[in-house]
Amino acid sequence: MGYRYGVKRYDLIIVGAGIIGTACADAASEHGLRVAVVEPGPIGGGATASAMGHLVAMDDDPAELALANYSLALWENFTHVAPIEYSRCGTLWVASTAAEYAHIPQKIARLASVGVQAELIDGEQLYRLEPALAPGLCGGMRVPREAVVYPPAMARHLLDRARARGAVLHAQRVTAITQQGVQLDDQTRLAGPVLVATGCALPQLLPQLPMRARKGHLVITDRYPGVVHHQLLELGYADSAHGDADSSVAFNVQPRPTGQILIGSSREYGANTAEVSMPMVQRMLARTFRYLPALRQLDALRIWTGFRPVSADGLPYLGRVPEHANLWVAAGHEGLGITTSLGSARLVIDQYLGRATAIDPRPYDPARAVASA
Ligand SMILES: Cc1cc2nc3c(=O)[nH]c(=O)nc-3n(C[C@H](O)[C@H](O)[C@H](O)COP(=O)(O)OP(=O)(O)OC[C@H]3O[C@@H](n4cnc5c(N)ncnc54)[C@H](O)[C@@H]3O)c2cc1C
Repeated sequence: MGYRYGVKRYDLIIVGAGIIGTACADAASEHGLRVAVVEPGPIGGGATASAMGHLVAMDDDPAELALANYSLALWENFTHVAPIEYSRCGTLWVASTAAEYAHIPQKIARLASVGVQAELIDGEQLYRLEPALAPGLCGGMRVPREAVVYPPAMARHLLDRARARGAVLHAQRVTAITQQGVQLDDQTRLAGPVLVATGCALPQLLPQLPMRARKGHLVITDRYPGVVHHQLLELGYADSAHGDADSSVAFNVQPRPTGQILIGSSREYGANTAEVSMPMVQRMLARTFRYLPALRQLDALRIWTGFRPVSADGLPYLGRVPEHANLWVAAGHEGLGITTSLGSARLVIDQYLGRATAIDPRPYDPARAVASA
């Protein structure tokens, strides 16, 4: 950190310490940058704390798949970090109709094209892998190397690493972006290039980049080890995630390393309060019980909600903000920000440093949204 006329100066000021801001702090400090992180709340306490923490490659959009695949490779460096509860349970996508089952080889081929290994599972294998599934399902697709983590612990871990390399945390809110840097709640000014990673709150600082909040509900049960073994999703999940319906639910169940079962997931636009909606929870659970009737008998302990940050086209904004030499953004990861955090951070920091990027950065260029606004 340097001082000039009493103002603290940094090589990069990162606004927001969710999984995206902390991953950026980690990547930037690894390259020797003098980093400030500004966050008024708990580290990883925003969308990051609400997430399921499933690390998953979705294959229906090539740019999303490239970013996920790049990130999943980087996640391999964190498999032994105890507090993040990394558990390689694998993903099992379940086909409820013959049409869904017939579609699986195409999905396997798309995943294989970027090096993700997935296998076709017939009906018999399906029930051997997950005996609690409802009868009558057709089979599925297993992605054995996918995993789940505990996202807020990962955010803390990334920030701890950055701080060990000299990054400074300012427990304040950024109230304005200035010509020189940022202004904080307590009127302190920090000078230097700015990277905004504030998720759903992005428009408060960068109104030129559209962002919607998409509410989700999750339910967690008491401890029932061994009831499910994989992260289980219906093959129709992508329609819920990538569709634009005002509200949707999909079967999405996760075995936590504690033995608890985490049940998702719902998606809702236009819901502005964090309040739990019991009709939405009932709809989500009805969907779950169609696939896993045994869960009806289990005790749920807690229900919570969170908001996914959704960009204009569903892909994150990663790069320089148009018409600003020293202003950068990393936000808008919808329901995949835990998975894609590590690759997103590398992509932005490599561009900031003028280095070659590992994947093509153009699909995530923020200029696309400003141009179409
Ligand atoms: C129900 C649900 C389930 C999900 N499940 C998964 C999953 O299984 N797998 C997956 O990959 N993704 C999942 N996600 C998506 C994932 O949680 C998000 O994409 C990701 O957490 C976004 O991270 P972020 O850092 O951009 O935002 P956040 O975590 O919201 O962080 C933004 C931070 O910016 C701070 N901030 C805001 N304004 C300011 C300001 N003015 N000054 C300073 N700081 C500020 C906030 O306090 C906050 O801490 C899920 C999301 C939800 C809601």
